[in-house]
Amino acid sequence: VTGLPETLFRTEFPEIQERPMAMPAVTADGGAELRSALASAVHGAVLTPGDAGYSDARAVHNGAVEHRPAAIVQVASAADARAALALAGERGLRVTVRGGGHGVDGAGMAGDIVLDLRALRGVSVDAQRQTATVRGGATWADLDAATGAHGFVVPGSRVGSVGVVGSTLAGGTGWLTPRYGTTWASVLVVESVSVDGLRTDAATEDEPDGRSVITSLTVTLYPQPAAVLAGRLLYRLADAADVASVVADLVTRRRPEFAPMLRWQPAPAAAYVPGDVVGRPVLAVLPTWTGDAAEGAQFLAPLRRAARALVDATHPTSYTELQQQLDASSPWGRRRAEFAALDARPPAASAALLETALADRPGPHGFVELTPVASSGEWVTRAEAQWTDRADDARHRSWLAALETSLRPSTDTTH
Ligand SMILES: Cc1cc2nc3c(=O)[nH]c(=O)nc-3n(C[C@H](O)[C@H](O)[C@H](O)COP(=O)(O)OP(=O)(O)OC[C@H]3O[C@@H](n4cnc5c(N)ncnc54)[C@H](O)[C@@H]3O)c2cc1C
Repeated sequence: VTGLPETLFRTEFPEIQERPMAMPAVTADGGAELRSALASAVHGAVLTPGDAGYSDARAVHNGAVEHRPAAIVQVASAADARAALALAGERGLRVTVRGGGHGVDGAGMAGDIVLDLRALRGVSVDAQRQTATVRGGATWADLDAATGAHGFVVPGSRVGSVGVVGSTLAGGTGWLTPRYGTTWASVLVVESVSVDGLRTDAATEDEPDGRSVITSLTVTLYPQPAAVLAGRLLYRLADAADVASVVADLVTRRRPEFAPMLRWQPAPAAAYVPGDVVGRPVLAVLPTWTGDAAEGAQFLAPLRRAARALVDATHPTSYTELQQQLDASSPWGRRRAEFAALDARPPAASAALLETALADRPGPHGFVELTPVASSGEWVTRAEAQWTDRADDARHRSWLAALETSLRPSTDTTH
């Protein structure tokens, strides 16, 4: 995907983990000594198992992540992060960083010591220079609110609770990517802290080395679109191939305002969906257009001619509302698994397979989402299983694995 760092990476500290003399994180005292050593080294709170607040602090977006770090440091400053890294280094303990907590694999919570950056949420905007500096624990809701107040945007995550740094390290894509590129492409300066101290680096083509805690990113700002057409159209699966092929055709026109998404999903229980349609497998088309509404309507006319929609819930709106429209579709705490793959075939070619996959899914949730990579003509296929009961883990994971296999060999799994 153009503009993505070549390697998607996790923030861990290999040189620390490889120390041969590693002490156990939790000794016979149940972790009391580690806790007191950390508490005297940092200003932020230190939570260990058994503390009030530990369970909430270790919870991440994916409810299936069950890591129990020996200590969670609620980092209050870059100095806290450095002190905790130094202490972990002395003891050979593994450190990971918790940003927005949306990594599906829960890698940020997998360390012996977790540096929780949620208290570092500030965003400062320099409207004259058209840049913003985002602290290491800020979410997209924080960034959108701060930049939006000045009429600016940064291209990135379509869900507000996602961490800015975590998503940027994985490239970062959003509704404005066709127009402004990935989030990573907007990064000017990376400020990070390691055991050696704080450093500030100009962003390069290469991704950061993944061995430090990013305390802030300075990013370029772009003008916020004045007009947006958002919402979705729901179609019967019998019409999915025709509709998908019209959307793919529109993508080839390479209009930067056009950022569509196709989702094979059960129709949601939302106010805009009639009762008899709720729960039915449908193709949802999000024909997002971040430009003039009349021009958008004209551009999208072929889509409206392709088939009669079961539901038309598109509407002119603001960029702020567009950024919030998917927040409810992946609620906090559900058990989740996913895969994403690049597919060279047009979406219509997968329609029959995705219809079967949707029919076979083992629970009421779960969807398969296709978004175009306009620059390469490929599509990113992302399938997500969502469920609530641990007893159902295996069923949902094997559904996802079977779908991934059936999409091969045309796909190239990205993570
Ligand atoms: C509901 C949902 C919607 C999503 N939508 C989008 C989308 O529209 N566009 C998109 O591009 N991605 C999207 N993603 C994917 C998301 O970008 C990744 O899951 C990302 O890794 C989440 O970052 P986080 O900080 O929230 O998560 P975390 O789990 O906290 O962090 C993820 C990784 O980044 C590291 N990390 C986080 N902060 C720092 C830091 N300050 N310094 C060093 N390392 C750090 C962590 O250690 C971990 O390895 C979505 C994910 C979910 C669950």
